[in-house]
Amino acid sequence: MNKPLILVVEDDPPVRNLITTTLKTNDYRYLSAGSGEAAIMEASSHNPDIVLLDLGLPDMDGVQVIEKIRSWSNLPIIVISARSEDTDKIEALDAGADDYLTKPFSVEELLARLRVTQRRLAFMTDQVAASGSVFVNGKLRVDYAGGCAFLDGQELHLTPIEFKLLCLLSKNAGKVLTHTFITQNIWGRSWENDVASLRVFMATLRKKLEADPDAPQYIQTHIGVGYRMMKVE
Ligand code: CA
Repeated sequence: MNKPLILVVEDDPPVRNLITTTLKTNDYRYLSAGSGEAAIMEASSHNPDIVLLDLGLPDMDGVQVIEKIRSWSNLPIIVISARSEDTDKIEALDAGADDYLTKPFSVEELLARLRVTQRRLAFMTDQVAASGSVFVNGKLRVDYAGGCAFLDGQELHLTPIEFKLLCLLSKNAGKVLTHTFITQNIWGRSWENDVASLRVFMATLRKKLEADPDAPQYIQTHIGVGYRMMKVE
C-alpha cells in the first residue's frame, strides 16, 4: 500500500517543520502550503489522503479553505487551532472538518489523530463495500433499513430519537459532530433547549449502549463541542 499523502497547511515555518519532520519519520508522504490559496491549489491538484489545516492563515480564514475543499471533496480535514476558543473549532467542524488539534500539541497527539482518521477511512471503505444498509462496529450492529440496532446480538430498545441519534453518529463514525449539526439533523433546528435535550437523549442512549456509561467506548464526548462515535475493535 502507498504511504498516505498528507497536505500540511501552516504558515508558521517552525510549526510546519515540526509537522513535516514528524510525518517523514513516521512513514507518511507530505505536501505543504503556507497560505489558503496554495492549500486549495495543492488539494485540488494532488488529491491528498488527509489535510492538516491551520485555521489562522495570512490570506484567508481556514474555514473558507474548508468550504472550498468541501465543494468538491470529502477528503478528511483535521484543523489545527492556536486559539483555544471552542467557537473556532465548532465553526470549522460545522464547515465540514473531521477533527481538530489544539496548539500546542505533541507529536504523539498529532500521530494519534492521523491514525484515528486513517482507521475511519479504512472502516468507511469496508462498510461501503460490505453493505450500505447495515453498520457494524465492535459488538454494535445498526440495521438502517430495518430500523433496529443490536448489541452483542441483543436488540436495543431505543426510542425513535435515540435510534436517529445512533444512525447519525454511526453514519459519521470517527468524525466529531457538533451540537448544532446533531440538533439540526434530529430536530431541524438548533435552539438552546435542543442542545439541553440532546444531552438527555445522549445520556439515555449511552445507558443502553455502553457497558459503563461513565467510561464510554462507543460515543465520545467533546465538552462544549459535540460527540463522536469511535471505532471499537
Ligand atoms: Ca497560523
